[in-house]
Amino acid sequence: MVSENLWNKEMDFNAVSAFCEDYKAFLTACKTERECVSFMEAELEANGYRNLNEVIRRGESLQAGDKVYADIMKKALLMFQIGTRPFSDGMRILGAHIDSPRLDLKQRPLYEEGELAMLDTHYYGGIKKYQWVALPLALHGVVAKKDGSVLNISIGDKPEDPVFGVSDLLPHLASKQMEKKAREAVEGENLNVLVGSRPLEGEKKEAVKAAVLQILKEQYGIEDEDFISAEIEVVPAGSARDYGLDRSMIMSYGQDDRVCAYTSFRAMIEMEAPEYTSVCLLTDKEEIGSVGATGMHSRFFEDTVAEVMNACGCYSEIALRRVLKNTKVLSSDVSAAFDPNYPEVMEKNNCAYLGRGPVFNKYTGSRGKSGSNDANAEYIAWLRNILDNGGIGYQTSELGKVDAGGGGTIAYILANLGMEVIDCGVAVLNMHAPFEITSKIDVYETYRAYGVFLRN
Ligand code: MN
Ligand code: MN
Repeated sequence: MVSENLWNKEMDFNAVSAFCEDYKAFLTACKTERECVSFMEAELEANGYRNLNEVIRRGESLQAGDKVYADIMKKALLMFQIGTRPFSDGMRILGAHIDSPRLDLKQRPLYEEGELAMLDTHYYGGIKKYQWVALPLALHGVVAKKDGSVLNISIGDKPEDPVFGVSDLLPHLASKQMEKKAREAVEGENLNVLVGSRPLEGEKKEAVKAAVLQILKEQYGIEDEDFISAEIEVVPAGSARDYGLDRSMIMSYGQDDRVCAYTSFRAMIEMEAPEYTSVCLLTDKEEIGSVGATGMHSRFFEDTVAEVMNACGCYSEIALRRVLKNTKVLSSDVSAAFDPNYPEVMEKNNCAYLGRGPVFNKYTGSRGKSGSNDANAEYIAWLRNILDNGGIGYQTSELGKVDAGGGGTIAYILANLGMEVIDCGVAVLNMHAPFEITSKIDVYETYRAYGVFLRN
């Protein structure tokens, strides 16, 4: 039912803690979409899931109870467990995204100025740029070499690693900066990461840059030109931590939307013998409009469903369209939590609160619901029924007051295929900041809600 504070409910609080320890370990290990995919693929293999490409290559067929997964360019991931009902009855999809706001290195990032070695970046997603200065940052990503090999890079998160950062102006000299609008106080082009200050011995020209290049070559096998074919993300350094004296919350980078990705993923791998085919869909590029081959607008989703149906022996174009039309989706994405420091942006009866469980957003969008999926009343009634029967506490919300702003998710893209779709995820404080806050009880109840959804 529509819930009050779930900490007051009879719950297995040990199970809440244990689940959140696993979740924190995931957040600490997975700071990029690629790291999420490789972490999850290892878990899937250990839980009886087979690579769909292998199934296709061997010409194997799939039947009820079979589990398969497919990644898209190692940045998006789809998993299926075939249900006992005919495919044509539709699927149950949990759809989240695994990209998060960050700074990406440019293709020619390294330069020297003032005898300091710097990396030039281009920010990714909707960030408040002033939040990304003067804090410890790490470098995570890949360098693809001309010989076809791909090096994984992760520097700044192991205890013995150095960290990096973007410098900020001292208050003594910031009188002009402090007059500026917040959006201009730190300019995007000034988000340059300091990575070195010690010149290479005997080098006359750009000796600090030369020293950094020598380290990159010796320790990582990277040449300056290799940055052209690299994807290196600059992300906050450090682990996911308990937050609050009562340890009731979690602080971490990347909880939008890895909190919904992880809870969806866990509900999926713990699902056994579903009636309706269970699907977990973890997409990339949501933060920049769901574009590109690995974003939700890509054909990868329909193509992969077609492949799975084909392996089940039930594919035809019309059969695929019928499956999509009969499918129900939770677009698993985060919502903004009520913030006592900024109550003025929320309308108190229609906003999300930490501790009240998964949040349903019937619609998102801005300026009169523009750009929104607007979930059907009948679908919401069906959800109310299964959640109440499953003993799940949940809440409903809008993203802030009318005309205060707005946002969007992947919901409308899946709804374009004729599916029933609603946004359902965890409430977050500090959304899109380097460190975001969630409530442990919400994380756990959302995971339970996703399990109920897949079973109904
Ligand atoms: Mn999101
Ligand atoms: Mn977001």
